[in-house]
Amino acid sequence: MDPIVIIGSGLAGYNVARELRKLDKATPLVILTADGGQFYSKPMLSNALASNKLPEAIPTHSAEQMAAQLDATIRAHTRVTAIDAGSHQIRIGDEIIHYSKLVLAPGAEQIRLPLSGDAAAGVLSVNSLDDYARFRAAIEGRKSVAIIGAGLIGCEFANDLAATGYKVDVIDIADQPLARLLPPAGGAMLKANLAALGVTWHFGTGAQAVDNDNGRLRVTLGNRETIATDVVLSAIGLKPKLELARAAGLKINRGIVVDRHLATSAKDVFAIGDCAEVAGLVLPFVMPIMHAARALAATLAGKPTAVSYPAMPVLVKTPACPTIVAPPANGASGEWQTEQTADSVKSLFVDASGKLLGFALNGAATAERAKLAQQLPPVLN
Ligand SMILES: Cc1cc2nc3c(=O)[nH]c(=O)nc-3n(C[C@H](O)[C@H](O)[C@H](O)COP(=O)(O)OP(=O)(O)OC[C@H]3O[C@@H](n4cnc5c(N)ncnc54)[C@H](O)[C@@H]3O)c2cc1C
Repeated sequence: MDPIVIIGSGLAGYNVARELRKLDKATPLVILTADGGQFYSKPMLSNALASNKLPEAIPTHSAEQMAAQLDATIRAHTRVTAIDAGSHQIRIGDEIIHYSKLVLAPGAEQIRLPLSGDAAAGVLSVNSLDDYARFRAAIEGRKSVAIIGAGLIGCEFANDLAATGYKVDVIDIADQPLARLLPPAGGAMLKANLAALGVTWHFGTGAQAVDNDNGRLRVTLGNRETIATDVVLSAIGLKPKLELARAAGLKINRGIVVDRHLATSAKDVFAIGDCAEVAGLVLPFVMPIMHAARALAATLAGKPTAVSYPAMPVLVKTPACPTIVAPPANGASGEWQTEQTADSVKSLFVDASGKLLGFALNGAATAERAKLAQQLPPVLN
């Protein structure tokens, strides 16, 4: 029997494998991964400094331990180079592997800013354990980090670095942190609390150049200001990894297009995680992966199962300003209503009939998360 093959050993790939093994202990399973194949929780990367974790202490299981736990063949440091969906084959260079069913879980990649300057190539980003090890080596013994991007990942790193004594500058073309997720009052609280921790914000302007300057770096902004720093971290966002799917002729849009069964346009090929666009939604977070992994495992085990998503609030790991967001669906009509106290901001997105469609909570208001989440409509019913 040809194996089920999974490409990728991130939370998506490994969670499908774990869920599958609960239902099917017999079908041979092969996991191919470009990285070391360790199991780790990627969200930990942006609070590992304050929780005193070295990169090597972040994985909970080695590839060998995962292979034993999943009764799977795991090939680490193995990059799949092509898919031939017509003949149920994948290629690793010249090697060919046949599959019965194929799961694509190659994740996402950093969007790169077109920066000029003689140190632009040295700008770091963090979307894997290996990236994080490089970042930690770069900041070791240094004092300052400039972060490009005040989104979720940029704010989390800003909090983690500032809380552990680094001088942190954050640059964003928007005029507040988490501009796409927080209405202004919540953004103002996050901005103030991180500023109190020592973060210097540079809003309304982008980074244009990074140059070497006497052993340090100089970041030049669109408004001609310059920032002297030791390390530059880019956190401007991710885009689904599409090259394998595109070359194989699979339907792609913003992500690899899949239906509610996580099925791509090619027979017996599925996609899940940061790479996938599920029923029109690209949701690069852990909770959607957990729901999709359960549904896909059932489908792979012979019981076709459509994925549903309940409301899935996202906890932003900024302890200086606890923040939880459940954004309304794209295009939802309604308005933000905000209540504010000295230590909390509660913003509710409600429609004309008063129905709750989304929320953003900061500070003490985060205690209301469970109660409010129950009132939200499901993301995918
Ligand atoms: C710093 C940070 C903090 C985050 N915090 C949160 C949070 O608090 N809450 C939350 O919900 N989400 C958070 N996220 C998002 C969440 O971690 C991701 O949605 C999730 O980990 C994505 O998992 P994935 O398996 O789809 O992709 P990945 O983890 O990127 O895994 C992709 C896998 O595919 C492999 N691969 C890629 N191409 C190939 C190839 N050609 N051949 C073989 N293997 C290949 C890679 O080696 C890797 O093993 C965070 C993300 C980051 C970067």
